[in-house]
Amino acid sequence: MATIVDVIFVGTGTSGAVPNISCLTHPDKKCKVCISAMTPEGRKNMKKNTSMIVRYKKNGDSPNARLRTVLIDCGKTFYDSALHIFPKYGIRELDAVVLTHGHADACYGMDGLRQWTLGGAVQKSIDIYLNDETMEVVQRTFPFLVDAKNATGGGDVATFNYKIISPDTPFTIEGLEFMPLPVHHGIYLSTGKPYWCFGFKMNDISYISDTNFIPEETMKRMLSSPNRVFVIDCLRSK
Ligand SMILES: [Zn+2]
Ligand SMILES: [Zn+2]
Repeated sequence: MATIVDVIFVGTGTSGAVPNISCLTHPDKKCKVCISAMTPEGRKNMKKNTSMIVRYKKNGDSPNARLRTVLIDCGKTFYDSALHIFPKYGIRELDAVVLTHGHADACYGMDGLRQWTLGGAVQKSIDIYLNDETMEVVQRTFPFLVDAKNATGGGDVATFNYKIISPDTPFTIEGLEFMPLPVHHGIYLSTGKPYWCFGFKMNDISYISDTNFIPEETMKRMLSSPNRVFVIDCLRSK
């Protein structure tokens, strides 16, 4: 059991992030959003890949123990986001990273986590929770993050412990239960079948970061206990 203390939005932007460089370099300077993102007044329009940190106390932790910290997703822009968020909120150790799916905006920042584990700078290793499909993406994309023998150069790579999760089985990280909320995230263009992404329910907080359809079963699962906060991505209405 655990008590959630806060959640921190590491990023709330699109997969490509905002501003879009092509908008900034466009001769007509038509895109007001992207142009404004580069000004102090419009900085809130600067949006990084979607990601969230949940911080909590595990039952039995001493009152002055550091907060347990889990990062959900670690996309392309993770380093840039972490540069601002981690020092600002006094975050250092990561108890785990949970990946929602295997797209670039959800996991291509994993290499940046070497700053935590190289030489045990912050910690010896980081547990990574992901499903088998995302594991395949990581294996293909970052073979050196799965087996350091695949590294080249100086061999300075992050150290991870992979934990495979499945859509219907809750898992617990340092006392906090993560209930998977499997949702559709578009389709496989090759087969037309749905591509699945994970949302998660943690106590009374539900988080779904990348979906275009929530199946009935998942909706029931989410509503089977109270929700105080519901976070969902929203790009456009149809
Ligand atoms: Zn733009
Ligand atoms: Zn995606």
